[in-house]
Amino acid sequence: MDKKNDSNNLESIKNQFKITKECPLCTKNYGQDVMKLLHRDEEAVLYHIRCPHCQNALAIIVGLTSFGMGLVALVTDLTAEDAKKYFYKEAISEDKMLEIYSLINNQNYNFNQFFK
Ligand SMILES: [Zn+2]
Repeated sequence: MDKKNDSNNLESIKNQFKITKECPLCTKNYGQDVMKLLHRDEEAVLYHIRCPHCQNALAIIVGLTSFGMGLVALVTDLTAEDAKKYFYKEAISEDKMLEIYSLINNQNYNFNQFFK
């Protein structure tokens, strides 16, 4: 998709969803050029917004649903670069979480060795 279509799509999204113009945490308008396009595929678009007033950040996913265009916004501490890097990585499995939990709770394991 070319840059002109990206720009038109972004304006369309901004006109439909207040959260793309106004920070839900401090309620101030973001101003211009704070939405960064991180990823696009046939199903969804991922944006990152860092509020210039309160410095909180949102990851915003916009996609078509059976009811029309839908948006999910997540408050995040990820930078735009980190969000791009981690967002589509495979989730940590339940087995891996249990393994980590067991490791942390093992009385004989010196967890502090990781931080020396
Ligand atoms: Zn804010």
